Amino acid sequence: MSDIRTFQYFANNQWHDPADGGWFDSENPANGEVWARVPDCRQADVDRGVAAAREAFCDGPWGRMLPAERGRVLRRIGDVISKFAERLGAIETQDNGKLPQMITPGLREGQWLVDSWHYYAGMCDKFEGRVIPAEAPDMHNYMKWEPFGVVAQILPWNSPLGTLIWKLAPCLAAGNTVVMKPSEHSSCSTLELMDVLLEADLPPGVLNVVTGFGSTTGEPLIDHKDVRMASFTGGTAGGRAAAAVASRQVKPIIMELGGKSPQIVLPDADLELAVNGVAAGIFPPGGQSCISGSRLLVHRSVVEEFSHRLVDVVKKAKVGEPNDPTTQIGPMANGPHYRNVLDRIAAADDAGHKLLLDGRTACRDKGYYIGPTIFADVPNNADLAQNEVFGPVASIEAFDDQAEAVRIANDSIYGLAAGIWSRDVTSAMRMADRIEAGTVYINNYFNAATQSPVGGYKQSGYGRENGWEGMRCFMQTKSVWLATDPHQPDPFG
Ligand code: NAD
Repeated sequence: MSDIRTFQYFANNQWHDPADGGWFDSENPANGEVWARVPDCRQADVDRGVAAAREAFCDGPWGRMLPAERGRVLRRIGDVISKFAERLGAIETQDNGKLPQMITPGLREGQWLVDSWHYYAGMCDKFEGRVIPAEAPDMHNYMKWEPFGVVAQILPWNSPLGTLIWKLAPCLAAGNTVVMKPSEHSSCSTLELMDVLLEADLPPGVLNVVTGFGSTTGEPLIDHKDVRMASFTGGTAGGRAAAAVASRQVKPIIMELGGKSPQIVLPDADLELAVNGVAAGIFPPGGQSCISGSRLLVHRSVVEEFSHRLVDVVKKAKVGEPNDPTTQIGPMANGPHYRNVLDRIAAADDAGHKLLLDGRTACRDKGYYIGPTIFADVPNNADLAQNEVFGPVASIEAFDDQAEAVRIANDSIYGLAAGIWSRDVTSAMRMADRIEAGTVYINNYFNAATQSPVGGYKQSGYGRENGWEGMRCFMQTKSVWLATDPHQPDPFG
């Protein structure tokens, strides 16, 4: 018991015990053992976080700070994080099972964690208003950009630091203050980040973290009367519930939700490239990525060869403990999710889909391990093709022509991402135009960058993260009318 680390929550640059004294356990998914206790924040704690954020926005230095000065603070934060990235990565691995190499600076999420601060540091003073040539005599009309105020940010458990950074830096760059709620399954790296940020001299109250569950922490946070907008990353069901709460006070909310992203392999594809790219677009994070391209649509003329080659590539993957440097795929990030993925595999098996590779052979007595799993002959109306598994599970369906491929790809409630594999780039670009998804990859998959906006079509969400659009979502415009020659005749005379 003594080895179990107890966290506090973070408000006004100070650590606090939860007001009602409740904590919940956090497991290490590598062995299923409890390693930390996390505050179960309720209304009083949410109130404290929001009060700190509101004071920082209305009365603290943050609200009055010039954008260029805010940029200098953000740059400092990026520098501090790059110094402590290894420490943050170690907590992420312990709490979430993510391989340490995925959060190493210079690689993907580790790099985003630093780049995002530096990118938005430079953007703080680039949002210029404009003078509008309004059809109104003797008036000077101008538009300016303003922050919303206190913003609630709700995070999922996959890639806690990776998803956090896409919304945090642009939101602060825009001049808002933030109360963040990480997932109940992976709160610890977000709390550790706050400890790191204390070194960056962020003014008190600008960033606060309350931990807990969706209904008892997330809902009161979004619903708080002093929260002006929210940004939610998570599943579509959770997103619907959060949007319903936001709608009570007509609050804007950004939605970054789930997906069931298709990857289309055309008959002229370079099959080696496609097989490797498809495998890389699903399995390394154990399928626990929102854009996981796990719905494979393969032209009938190459589906046999493609399927065999895909199995040959992914069956070599080493599934194991995240801290073992030879591991290529770590565990599922938490117990409930692990059991859910196993249930979905069993259901797909029971439904009679052809099981080409069974990842259940990787299961162990301790820890939440599942290996790559591939089903073939999965019609697009099957549960496996329609509903997100969020695990290392791919389905394959054959198609006969491009029009059918596009129709099947779009036959989904989701529209987060899609992949197209073809040597005919012109035709692939035409196909990309017809796919209903926020991101389309041609002859690659899984790329993302701080500079490039991401987000969903359809029930994968609305609003964008990263790039100029990522900051714009956290700002609103104000139109100001100044009378240059004030005169107002008596309206009733
Ligand atoms: P989830 O919806 O269960 O939970 C996400 C967060 O929402 C958690 O912090 C949870 O406590 C909170 N929450 C749940 N119900 C709530 C409510 N009614 N009010 C306020 N907060 C509430 O999702 P998850 O299982 O943690 O994450 C996995 C999902 O996230 C997958 O569907 C994945 O595709 C999606 N995701 C999307 C993106 C993206 O950018 N589009 C990125 C990562 C993950």
